[in-house]
Amino acid sequence: MSKGIDALRKLQILAKESFAPRAARYDETAAFPKQDIEELFAAGLLGPLIPADYGGLGLGHHSGDVHSFWMMTKAIAKANMGLARCWEGHGNALLLIKHLANEKQKKKWFKGVVKNGELWSAWSGEPLAVAPHENQKFGTRLTKVEGGYRLNGSKVFCSGAPGIQWAILLVNTEGSGGARHSGSASATVLMIACKLSDPGISFDDAWWKPIGMKSSVSYKVNFEDVFLPEENVIGSPGAYLSGEWQTRFTPHYTATFLGGAEAALEHTLHYIKKQGKENDPYIQQRVAKMHINVETANLWLRKVATLWETGQVEAAKQAGNSARYLIEQLTMETVSHAIHACGARAMIQPSPLERIYRDLSFYVRHDNDDQVLAMVGRAVLSIAHDKSFFNPDAIKKINPNGTKN
Ligand SMILES: Cc1cc2nc3c(=O)[nH]c(=O)nc-3n(C[C@H](O)[C@H](O)[C@H](O)COP(=O)(O)OP(=O)(O)OC[C@H]3O[C@@H](n4cnc5c(N)ncnc54)[C@H](O)[C@@H]3O)c2cc1C
Repeated sequence: MSKGIDALRKLQILAKESFAPRAARYDETAAFPKQDIEELFAAGLLGPLIPADYGGLGLGHHSGDVHSFWMMTKAIAKANMGLARCWEGHGNALLLIKHLANEKQKKKWFKGVVKNGELWSAWSGEPLAVAPHENQKFGTRLTKVEGGYRLNGSKVFCSGAPGIQWAILLVNTEGSGGARHSGSASATVLMIACKLSDPGISFDDAWWKPIGMKSSVSYKVNFEDVFLPEENVIGSPGAYLSGEWQTRFTPHYTATFLGGAEAALEHTLHYIKKQGKENDPYIQQRVAKMHINVETANLWLRKVATLWETGQVEAAKQAGNSARYLIEQLTMETVSHAIHACGARAMIQPSPLERIYRDLSFYVRHDNDDQVLAMVGRAVLSIAHDKSFFNPDAIKKINPNGTKN
């Protein structure tokens, strides 16, 4: 059996027997799923994308098996989508380190994961437009100093914040906006590893009162004169956007959507059988649609994974965006069918559908599907586009004035 399949089987059991029973408690308390992470480490599963030479499982987009990794994410999400977000963030950081960090950095940081159970994330989130209920702007200021940089300001949507040890910060020497919301040239976006025990870092849980994904603990994080040494800079300036790294992460998020949808389907089948409603023709149709949706989403993920695994990089990026758009629709519709088939009581705790509905409807906003769809359309029309859909340089290529058309 391959390493990936072996790890997947192990994780499926762990998720079903340990993570799923704890999910409601983590949701109720909006707490970081600490025990789950500790068990992932104890099972030797915390380094899925770390090469085998460094003690990891050696999975990944460019390592011949990314599908097993995505299926691991799906299994975790089936138990707890908030936990899956922390796992995804860790995976994103590991992938960036694997491909862009230097040898010294890899040795140090991969050892921390494999030997000490350190958890990572990647934080860009600096939405610049103030929401009506907010009285402050988010964003960071990065200043070059002797031997490194000083960081001030704040980021939001920092998944895992109070429970993880390291974050790759996507920060910009031209001002606020991170990678996603900055209007500056891509070359000014830096990736810098930040140890979160720095006394200048504080976590603001008061900002985090979401409808769902509570245990992803995606807090606001404040940075007060935090020194980031030069040796923690990962890759060359602008590498994140010019390498379109977001395109590796976009389809991965849908594995989490799909885990939620599969859990909804499983619960619905159990619920209907218990109530003896299998012969109702409307229920049969709802169940059929759920089944087809889940199967379609799985086929799309398999297709995108195969493209990455066989080195068809441009096609993989393109198909990943199509999958991201479609799987949001398929999974949201699946959960809607589940609610219709099970009825109003499905929306009352402790029904797992109540939590899945809250988690999924929030999490599908991780990246904007209108923008994703527009990029799919631009590709179909053979006009200039940015496959990671927020690179201002690509937009400038479309319109030299720098304004969106
Ligand atoms: C549960 C959860 C966890 C997350 N965790 C992380 C994490 O750990 N790390 C991370 O980096 N990110 C994370 N994110 C990503 C985070 O998605 C974004 O920063 C956030 O969604 C953007 O905030 P917003 O809702 O204010 O949307 P906005 O970015 O304000 O978007 C709202 C709308 O405005 C449009 N819009 C945005 N900017 C412009 C513009 N300049 N011009 C015109 N239109 C615009 C968008 O297309 C969209 O339609 C997470 C998201 C979620 C939901």
